[in-house]
Order: sequence, then structure tokens, then C-alpha cells
Amino acid sequence: MIDRDGQRSLTGSRKRRKPVKTCLTFGRMIGLPVCCSVDAFKVTTVQKTDVAIVGAGPVGLFAVFECGMVGLTCHVVDALDAIGGQCSALYPEKPIYDIPGFPQISGAGLVEQLEQQVAPFKPVYHLGQRVDKVEQPHGQGRGFRLTTSKGTVIEAGAVIVAAGAGAFGPNRPPLDRIEQFEGQPGGCGVHYLVRRAEDFRARKIVIAGGGDSAVDWALMLHGIASQIWFVHRRDQFRAAPDSVAKLRALDGHGLNIVVPYQLDALEGGNGVLTGVTVKSLDGDAKLLPADALLAFFGLKSDLGPIAQWGMDLERHHLPVDPATCQTSVPGIFAIGDVATYRGKLKLILTGFAEAASAAHAIYPLLNDGKPLHFEYSTSKGTPGSNPGGTGKA
Ligand SMILES: Cc1cc2nc3c(=O)[nH]c(=O)nc-3n(C[C@H](O)[C@H](O)[C@H](O)COP(=O)(O)OP(=O)(O)OC[C@H]3O[C@@H](n4cnc5c(N)ncnc54)[C@H](O)[C@@H]3O)c2cc1C
Repeated sequence: MIDRDGQRSLTGSRKRRKPVKTCLTFGRMIGLPVCCSVDAFKVTTVQKTDVAIVGAGPVGLFAVFECGMVGLTCHVVDALDAIGGQCSALYPEKPIYDIPGFPQISGAGLVEQLEQQVAPFKPVYHLGQRVDKVEQPHGQGRGFRLTTSKGTVIEAGAVIVAAGAGAFGPNRPPLDRIEQFEGQPGGCGVHYLVRRAEDFRARKIVIAGGGDSAVDWALMLHGIASQIWFVHRRDQFRAAPDSVAKLRALDGHGLNIVVPYQLDALEGGNGVLTGVTVKSLDGDAKLLPADALLAFFGLKSDLGPIAQWGMDLERHHLPVDPATCQTSVPGIFAIGDVATYRGKLKLILTGFAEAASAAHAIYPLLNDGKPLHFEYSTSKGTPGSNPGGTGKA
């Protein structure tokens, strides 16, 4: 279920959870459902779930599966309008090669598979809203209340923070009027990520940056764009040597490497980009005719409100016990890129394993300490599946 406005409540909350005691008498008097709080004239529906997951990146999505497998319901909140985190927002069309069982799968393809895999557990998504506050209004160990930037309120027995690098955004080049050219559709204007390579078909584009993203996208868009200008301030690149070699081999064949030059000005008006002026360090200027500028200067990540939720922080990450993924606040767990411990590998597959550890650690917390009776998925199945079957259709 997708709830973009945060106004739809969870169906099938677990019965053993106590109802939220917030102004119930007044709520009943005016005919509100029992889980509503009334704050002056503002009515807020409190949504209840076992686990609230902050972040719908690949790792947050897989946490829905692992929680579901131990019988825990989930609400998932993401600041972005779509699920998938970095895979959807930064490299939907790039192939990933290190997901077990998939020799090659695109970022978007992985997210689609995950969405399908978690669907039987009926997660409720709250997209386009950031979790601003996480509180323990009923005292320690008695559940959490999350409030989002759109005013959605979720009460959960436990919280899993799968927030990646936090709310992320691009490092913008300092160019006059740049905002005017951002957000243009169809491969025109200024972009910091590529959602669909096809948008740039037959366009003239300037790609700026010297890292993996810039080099990989230049290789990917070569043959799709009519002309690529690859601009970097040095004649050295911080990208995989193999990719850099491929880039150099394309120089002069529909792709021109323009080094050592820096972006200097955007040409055009009314949101329509017509060119990019670049300048060398000794002041030599070139005007590159272009429909689009793809600027890949990295991302600035900001944990934002997460830093205020009372958990210990270590260089913008949440230190966890690797056995359980619990943070310094009992009941709040962290998995995926945001979590850190000795030897941590920031890989999707590591995050998937952490999701399993967190779900297994949360189960006894929400079941009066009862240990989890472990079962393989082959024995247990998922809702609507045929466990123990032959696996043949
Ligand atoms: C170009 C590129 C290529 C990569 N290739 C690979 C690869 O080949 N293999 C591999 O294993 N990894 C790869 N990675 C890394 C991989 O994408 C990350 O490890 C993975 O996305 C981490 O997943 P996550 O779910 O922890 O976080 P993310 O994918 O970062 O998702 C976190 C989500 O949390 C949301 N969020 C943050 N704060 C809040 C808040 N307060 N409220 C609501 N939502 C919030 C964000 O909006 C985001 O959607 C690559 C990364 C990049 C950039």
C-alpha cells in the first residue's frame, strides 16, 4: 500500500499492541477512530505497526522481507518520491554485478525485484516525506513515535534506520543561474543524475567531473547522445582504470575530452540551455554547444534529523552491535550504508544480511522475550506461497 500523503492507516495492526492513549475520550466524542490524537484543530491519525523503517533503499526494502518472515508488520518512510534509494535515484540503468543470484541486474531492476519480493508482506509506504522526529512518548522500551515532514505519525515497537547516507543531494557547481536550468525534462538543461539514458538520445551533452559516475555515464551515453564533451579540470581521472582507458579510446569519436578545463558559465535563457562555457586555468575559454549539462561532482550527504534522535554517532554513521544491528538506543536498529562497525563493507549484500540480523533481534523484543523459532524460507514460505512444494509451477 502506498500512502503518499500519510493519511491512510494500517489495516491489520497486530492485536497484542495496546491502543494509543491520546485524547481517546474526545476522539470518541467526535466520532474519530480510536487511534487519533487531536491537537487543537489539527487531527492526526496515528498509524501503528511493529517496525517502522526509515529509508526505502534496497536495504530498507529487504528489511520488510526479513521482518515479514518473522511475522512483523512494517511501515516504510522515504524522503524521495520513489522507492529504491541510491539504486533508483543515482544509477537506475547501471548494471550491478555483485548481487548473489543475479550475474547482472540494473539498479532499477533490483528495486523492482525487491518490491515484488516484499509485496506479500503488505508494507505501507510513506513516500516523499522525511522522518523528522523519533521519540519514546510512553517511556523507554514502550515503543517509538515517528513524525514525518508531512505530519504523518507512526507508532512502532521498533525502528530500523536504513537511511543510507541520509537525505542526499548533489554538489552543485557554482554557476550563475544554474537553478533556472535544473529539472528540465527530456535530456535538456542541468542534471545531476541520469534516470533514463534514452532521454539523451541525439542530444549534445557536456559531462563534467572526473570520477566513476562521470566516466561511466560518458561510456553509457556514447552512441546515444549525438556529441559528448567530457570536461575535467585535470588530465587525470579518479575512476576505474579500465573505464578510463575506454574513455580515452573514444576521444575524437563522438566524444571529446576537454581537459584541463572547468565549467565557467551556462548559456541560454528561460530554462533552455544552449551551451556551456569552459575555461582553462590560464583563462582560455571555449563555448561548447550543448542541450544538457550532466554535472557529477559527488553527493553531499546529510544525516539531517537522524543526528538528533539520541543515538551515538561516528563520523556521520550509526555505530551498531554487528550481531544485532542495534544502535546505542535500545529498540532502534541501523542497517545498510548508515550503519557502521569494525570491518563494515558498504555493499548492498552486506545490508541485506544486516536486515536479517536486525529482524531476528527485534522479534524477541516485541514478543515478551520469546526466542524466535528459526525456520528456513524453504520450510516456512511467504504469504500465498507453497512451502515444501517442488518449486515447479
Ligand atoms: C554509482 C553507484 C554505483 C554503485 N554500485 C554498487 C554495486 O555495484 N554494488 C553494491 O553493492 N553497491 C553499489 N553501490 C552502493 C549501494 O548503492 C549502496 O550501498 C546502497 O544503496 C545502500 O543501500 P541503503 O538502503 O542502505 O541506502 P540508500 O540506497 O542510500 O537509501 C537510503 C534511503 O533513505 C532515505 N532517507 C534518508 N534519511 C531519511 C529520513 N530522515 N527520512 C526518510 N527517508 C530518509 C533516502 O532518501 C534514501 O532513499 C553503488 C553506489 C553508487 C552511487
